[in-house]
Amino acid sequence: MNHPDPLFTQTPPQLGNQYRDDCLLVSWLHRMLPLTRLREFETEIEELGAEVGGPLYRLQLNDRLHEPRLTQWDAWGDRIDTVELTPLWREAERLTLEYGLVATAYERRHGYLSRIEQFAKVYLFHPSSDVYTCPLAMTDGAARTLVHSGNTRLIERAVPRLTSRDPARFWTSGQWMTETTGGSDVGGSQTRAVPDGDGWRLHGRKWFTSAVNSQMALTLARPDGNPQGGKGLAMFYVELRDETGRLNGIRVDRLKDKLGTRKVPTAELTLDGTRAELVGERSSGTRAIEPMLAVTRMWNSVCAVAFMRRGIALARAYAAERRAFGQPLRELPLHADTLAMVEAETWGAFLMTFLLVELNGRQENGELDTQQEAMLRILTPLAKLATGKQCVAAMSEAIESFGGAGYVEDTGLPQLLRDAQVLPIWEGTTNVLSLDVLRVLQPMNGLETLRRELGFLLQGLREPGLVKISARVEQSVEQAESWFRESAAAGGTQLEAGARRFALTLGRALELALLAQQAQWSLDHEKDRRAFAAARRFAAHGINLLVEMDVDEARMLARDEPG
Ligand SMILES: Cc1cc2nc3c(=O)[nH]c(=O)nc-3n(C[C@H](O)[C@H](O)[C@H](O)COP(=O)(O)OP(=O)(O)OC[C@H]3O[C@@H](n4cnc5c(N)ncnc54)[C@H](O)[C@@H]3O)c2cc1C
Repeated sequence: MNHPDPLFTQTPPQLGNQYRDDCLLVSWLHRMLPLTRLREFETEIEELGAEVGGPLYRLQLNDRLHEPRLTQWDAWGDRIDTVELTPLWREAERLTLEYGLVATAYERRHGYLSRIEQFAKVYLFHPSSDVYTCPLAMTDGAARTLVHSGNTRLIERAVPRLTSRDPARFWTSGQWMTETTGGSDVGGSQTRAVPDGDGWRLHGRKWFTSAVNSQMALTLARPDGNPQGGKGLAMFYVELRDETGRLNGIRVDRLKDKLGTRKVPTAELTLDGTRAELVGERSSGTRAIEPMLAVTRMWNSVCAVAFMRRGIALARAYAAERRAFGQPLRELPLHADTLAMVEAETWGAFLMTFLLVELNGRQENGELDTQQEAMLRILTPLAKLATGKQCVAAMSEAIESFGGAGYVEDTGLPQLLRDAQVLPIWEGTTNVLSLDVLRVLQPMNGLETLRRELGFLLQGLREPGLVKISARVEQSVEQAESWFRESAAAGGTQLEAGARRFALTLGRALELALLAQQAQWSLDHEKDRRAFAAARRFAAHGINLLVEMDVDEARMLARDEPG
């Protein structure tokens, strides 16, 4: 008897070595690292590439349904507020220590390259880590903030733990800023700081505190008698539990029920007499905590581009296997065009992000001149805001490229889009960072700085197609500059309303210039045209997003009132 054909089953997308399969990362590291160092580093990063595309990725898929659990009371009525983490997070901590995902930057064995090596590893690790990178970002940020504060006692107490590779010593840190009154405008914070002997006691409510399992946190509170507003806040150091494991005047009211980042325990806390130590001055806490934000924004950019890479890696693997209309998807011209669009955006986002990483490394190594310091200050919000938006758009395309499977939970794919959506929100929303870009450009003559950086990037281009791209970059920046000057002259409202389009235009111009530079290097040293193709495609997506928009019409539409 003849058997009918067995029912078709689709092969799921497989990930290979996430270092070896990433031609941009491989090429960029070859450009940046001296050959002898590259050879040593490649042993480590290839091993990590295999881990995150193999065992850790499989664990992530199997761990899909686990979420952190808060237990508030023990059997006898004692308040304990313990949070049980997911199995993957425990493995992620082990890998963090093994690969020194925070430590590498502080051991500084290879000067400014240490930051590059750290973030090359974080970039591979992040998409398989269920956003364990969130506490790591804050840990790195806290270490830098404490070092910057010059508070010797706290530096000696906390920094060796935050940057340790030893599981018995390692601490992570939280960052408690957002209150119910607002995260963008923390000036309205209501947490009080009351002097108590040598220290302080905090009283208030923190509304979003991620990684509440951390051992310490940096937080903002208003010392009694200080004025309202941001200047009246001071930065405090808190250890969450005492030697016996009891919480330090902290109640974990509940864990947030979130769209994404569901493996990250994000809590609402009540501080009820929490012992705290003033880190620096009794005021200007928002300024004191800035080093934290500079670091976490860099992590955010790296995580955004890491998600984009994971999206494209999975989409590409699927397009090689899945067939439609008699061919693998990747042979269908429109599907190939769609993936190429995501790839080109990923290249631009990667290059801008890793310029940020390089400048941070050079700053820590004392290598930046005033111009480069100014460039770093502009680049930090620019990279965070641009990559956050690019990531969400890219993840949406990646999900769609799987058709219905991309919408089905047990493929593990929907989580990518949900997790990506946090990137434009935390560590400063797109709007808040766009306004920050305006703020830093004005006193520092920042457009001049940016122009100089672009000039440097574009100066070596010889390939005719890249020379055309160079003209495109210059034209976009000139247009942005005219818009900026005219809007500033016309008064603040127009400038503020257009801040996001302006910042994104600058971000895209910079990404394109970096792509052109990478393309010329690749043509010269690798005879590879992929970066060139990515640059042309990126340029075709549009650079200048500035258009005149009527501010009153915007108000009419936002308020939905007849005009
Ligand atoms: C998963 C998750 C984890 C988090 N973890 C932490 C944490 O660990 N620690 C912590 O401190 N915070 C944390 N946050 C909070 C986060 O930083 C804030 O949500 C964010 O800063 C925005 O603040 P908000 O929610 O109060 O929104 P709001 O400040 O109320 O902003 C609402 C909207 O108004 C816009 N807006 C605000 N001001 C302006 C302006 N001047 N011009 C134009 N538009 C403006 C914003 O862009 C936003 O779209 C977390 C958030 C999430 C989602």
